[in-house]
Amino acid sequence: MQTTSIDRVSPIASAQRVWGWAAALLGLAFLVLPALAEGPKANSADATPRWWRGNMHTHTFWSDGDDFPETVGKWYKDHGYQFLVYTDHNVLLKGERWKRMPEKRQALEKYRDLFGGRSLQTRLDEARQMQMRLVPLSDFRAEFEEPQRFLLIMGSEITDKHGVHLLAFDLDKRVSPVGGSAAERGKMVRENVRRISEYRDHKGSQRFAVLCHPNYKWAITAEMMAPIADLRFFEVYNSSPGVRNDGDAHRASTDRIWDIVLALRLGAMKGKLLYGLATDDAHNYHGGGAGPGRGWVMVRSPRLEPEMILDAMDRGDFYATTGVILRDIRRQGNTIRVEIEPQDGVKYLTEYVGTRRGFDPSSKPTLDASGKEISNTTRTYSRQIGEVFARSEDISSSYRFSGDELYVRVRITSTADHVDGVTGKPLGSKQRAWGQPMILRPR
Ligand SMILES: [Zn+2]
Ligand SMILES: [Zn+2]
Repeated sequence: MQTTSIDRVSPIASAQRVWGWAAALLGLAFLVLPALAEGPKANSADATPRWWRGNMHTHTFWSDGDDFPETVGKWYKDHGYQFLVYTDHNVLLKGERWKRMPEKRQALEKYRDLFGGRSLQTRLDEARQMQMRLVPLSDFRAEFEEPQRFLLIMGSEITDKHGVHLLAFDLDKRVSPVGGSAAERGKMVRENVRRISEYRDHKGSQRFAVLCHPNYKWAITAEMMAPIADLRFFEVYNSSPGVRNDGDAHRASTDRIWDIVLALRLGAMKGKLLYGLATDDAHNYHGGGAGPGRGWVMVRSPRLEPEMILDAMDRGDFYATTGVILRDIRRQGNTIRVEIEPQDGVKYLTEYVGTRRGFDPSSKPTLDASGKEISNTTRTYSRQIGEVFARSEDISSSYRFSGDELYVRVRITSTADHVDGVTGKPLGSKQRAWGQPMILRPR
């Protein structure tokens, strides 16, 4: 990389000088770093489990997000989250990385306002375009993290071809996507899951994979997911426009795909449960697009530590939400109990959804409006899959297993608008929450 404007001085050493020039050019006057706003109340050191709010799918300037990771981390910390996982595409926030200065100034202006006392290293690339150096997570983590109050986790979105994307968390080395043709998407999911599942940290802890947005590019079907035994997590909600959480007039929603996978797995395959996450997949922090604050997980853990958060998720002790908050959700013996944290003037519908043993497993191709088969899409199954066993409009409700359910999961829909976290504008749907599938006897 040449730095033509500044003679033979190395890019990094010269960064301060160039930045001074760049700041003048951009009209940016950096101020003193303001004190960080108070985070949520700290938990005492006891081991009573509590709920921790986290977003586990986040992009920044390290890939195709439109803001600095520090600004993004601060946004989540200031908006009631206790943890955030950075999941840029096929990259970890470590090492040296330069990015061309964004044309829009919003991110730079926010950075100046929030972190004015900090220098931003810059240089010119071969095309004499200004670049800035991105700060690795290890260098800014301490500024935001607080024990038992806020945690930043290094992750990555293993971004393969043809819309095959998987999240992996708490990494210290990169996991590469396997590649393949469109016809090999099922194989690609399986192989990427295997690579992530093989990943062990220095303590030997295993990692799990989350399949992202199955309906993005209509890439992933229930039939691809069901037989992959180690695929135990997927996104039932992802905030990006174009990921088609709700399917379309003919094709299955992610919620429906969940039931189909669970029924196929827990029926003939005798396989494992599939858990659902809601995530922001945040890319756009200045309004619109895939904004932050729309979908997250609430994880029940005694402490706010990466290993304990991931262990709790591994046990299924979490729920996904786009706004509905639960005081409690649990199975006690043969009963599932749900208690909603009510908001003023908001009504709730709690549905207990599941599939019974002996369900009709037959399926037929999914057809479009003209009766033509839609290729590479989840097949059409009977309504015995994903039956609503019970409904309640109460804040507290329960469901008693009758004994013939393969699984039961909880879906709550409120009358409150689902809104964007930056603009506060309604997104055209209502707030929801999804509990994890439960079975009478834990496997
Ligand atoms: Zn993705
Ligand atoms: Zn993403």
